[in-house]
Amino acid sequence: MENRQMILRDIPKIDELLFDERLIFAMKEMPRSVVVDAAREIIDQVRSEILSGAKTSVPSRDCIIADVCKLAVEKSRRSLRRLINATGVVLHTNLGRANLSRTAIESVNRIAGSYSNLEYDIKNGTRGSRHDHIEKIIGKITGAEAAIVVNNNAAATMLCLSALACGKEVVVSRGELVEIGGSFRIPDIMKQSGAHLREVGATNKTKLSDYEQGYVSELTGAFMKVHTSNYRIMGFTQEVQLGDMVKLGEKFSVPVVYDLGSGLMVSLSRYGVDEPTVVDALHSGADVVLFSGDKLFGGPQCGVIIGKREYIEKMKRHPLARVVRVDKMTLAAMEATLYEYLDMESAKKRIPVLQMITVSEKELQRKAEALKLCLEQDGSMFTFETATCEDQVGGGSAPMTKLPGYAVLVSRDGVSAEHIERLLRNMETPVIARVFHEKILLSVRTIGEDEFFAVAEAFSYVNTCLIEEKGV
Ligand SMILES: *Cc1c(COP(=O)(O)O)cnc(C)c1O
Repeated sequence: MENRQMILRDIPKIDELLFDERLIFAMKEMPRSVVVDAAREIIDQVRSEILSGAKTSVPSRDCIIADVCKLAVEKSRRSLRRLINATGVVLHTNLGRANLSRTAIESVNRIAGSYSNLEYDIKNGTRGSRHDHIEKIIGKITGAEAAIVVNNNAAATMLCLSALACGKEVVVSRGELVEIGGSFRIPDIMKQSGAHLREVGATNKTKLSDYEQGYVSELTGAFMKVHTSNYRIMGFTQEVQLGDMVKLGEKFSVPVVYDLGSGLMVSLSRYGVDEPTVVDALHSGADVVLFSGDKLFGGPQCGVIIGKREYIEKMKRHPLARVVRVDKMTLAAMEATLYEYLDMESAKKRIPVLQMITVSEKELQRKAEALKLCLEQDGSMFTFETATCEDQVGGGSAPMTKLPGYAVLVSRDGVSAEHIERLLRNMETPVIARVFHEKILLSVRTIGEDEFFAVAEAFSYVNTCLIEEKGV
């Protein structure tokens, strides 16, 4: 014990360490407090290792400084970081859903750091409305009379039900009481909005007569249809077509609300993705249609509400509209994304989500071969091969659809794929990959060509780690 106390005296003082030019340099790159915290942690660690007997001498000053620098860099890393999605799941909710188009990014860039006419009418020099920036173009693309954009589709549902059916009943099929994830369940949102859920039909079958019998004069505030985005009911099933619900709504003068979920603007059935489109929903006569901005629509996180002006106006005037309103960056990204849809064919190339879904198998094969070549440049001890794979749309859209894709499979003798997968996640720019039949599977559908170099760098880092591990 006596001896350990002696060794402790050799530990450098923090104040003294902070005069080291390497740490002074680090303090120019990052906040001083980050470097001081890192120094304190490393010193504490050395002290406890000596006290426990794990170390019998104080590491060299150079060693300590290097450890402090390394820890300080780790501590100054942003929590929200970019990463490479090699899973082949296009709309990965955990990985941020839709990537924005280039023009949307440019728009956000222009607006974010500057004043703007967010709520200002430039022509008249008077107060304007933030809703005006996107309402016209949404109308032009979808044919909707009016529109409002809010924080997300959950907020859209909440606002819509509150404004149209608070204190009233909303008739919904038992087959459509969806849970989207987390705490978003239609019955819960309904309760929060002050509307009362009137369930009709059975889980597998709901008929028009069920809706009709669910209607109560003076009490029914809306008929609601919810797209079962993330599941399908198969077998002995029946659901009522939107058009038939619309006729019923007209008969009773009750609005029909359709929660469409994914916001698909151009039919993707040619690519095996069988989801209803926004325009189809409006053509069926729905009074109000709701959808997410960051699913198949391919824009920023938001919820879009379109439909008849009288209903949308009610929502704009509702106090919750302020609670769930979007900021200038969302509007900037949304307006730019909407512009892409003025030309549907080019939208499929320019909106990343659509590009990734509609890309040809031949192109994916070429990309896989290019990635393999890029990875082989390093001459590390991995085995790379290209193979076909199954990708997904994801984000709770088209749950049954498998997109035929291409991948690079990576393996290494004597090292488990799980171990490599973990190391890939540890990168400065993490690579998120699947493990498939004991190999790493890198699906190229969701990897940009401009990210190939970063993927190669990740593998050369993994290579270094594996060599170091072996050496120890
Ligand atoms: C995804 C989805 C929602 C929730 O949308 P967010 O934008 O994630 O809030 C609501 N309803 C349906 C049918 C959905 O698919």
